[in-house]
Amino acid sequence: MGGDLYALDFDGVLCDSCGESSLSALKAAKIRWPTIFEGVSSELEDWIIDQMHFLRPLVETGYENLLLVRLLLEIQIPSARRSSVADGLTPEAILEKWPELKPVIMKEWNEARNELIDLFGSVRDEWMNEDLSGWIGANRLYPGIADALRFSSSHIYIVTTKQCRFADALIKELAGVTIPPEKIYGLGTGSKVEVLKKLQAMPQHQGLKLHFVEDRLATLKNVIKEPALDGWNLYLGRWGYNTEKERKEAESIPRIQLLDLSVFGSKLK
Ligand SMILES: [Mg+2]
Repeated sequence: MGGDLYALDFDGVLCDSCGESSLSALKAAKIRWPTIFEGVSSELEDWIIDQMHFLRPLVETGYENLLLVRLLLEIQIPSARRSSVADGLTPEAILEKWPELKPVIMKEWNEARNELIDLFGSVRDEWMNEDLSGWIGANRLYPGIADALRFSSSHIYIVTTKQCRFADALIKELAGVTIPPEKIYGLGTGSKVEVLKKLQAMPQHQGLKLHFVEDRLATLKNVIKEPALDGWNLYLGRWGYNTEKERKEAESIPRIQLLDLSVFGSKLK
């Protein structure tokens, strides 16, 4: 026996989807809050999309992009403000304080997580149906990933907060690889901690070396808190959606190895 099992995050590890998720969020925000987004100039839209790249390390689940888009608008347009936090707020401050800001705006905007998730998914579905190549083209796999997935001799699982159908479509189209549905754990399949527990318990995985690659430090810290997951090798991908501050912090945590993209590609093979 022996061999390696890789549990891989999707966005920020395999795929740079920031352009797509920001544009989808803007489309969805216009549907959800039409009066607030009415008359917004294309310059302001460009500024919002630009800031979304800066704020991307905050996003754990896609619907949060919608919240960020609206909050950025409230920062710029006082008359659009319906939350108590936007006055004097900056993108830098959002980056610092997002875990505190998020529950406040959800409450003050009277929004429900599941409704935003459904809306975000349906906007993507519509974009995919109307213009598949445009939607695919707004995403890209990081350099070397397509070959690494194609030629890997390891057991590969995708563990993502994205809805499975989108991860599946992107891997098929961009890497030319089909990953069987039972190897993609997407939104709604439980937390990443739960998924890793499931994977390590499967009889066919006994004796394998376990590796989990993520770009979100908070997720790795959740794994470290679980003694049952002590057997996993944990990696933070430097190329993904994390900040310099988070990479520094990760360097001080013995359990976590920082990984460069080129090293990751060759590890998978
Ligand atoms: Mg990620």
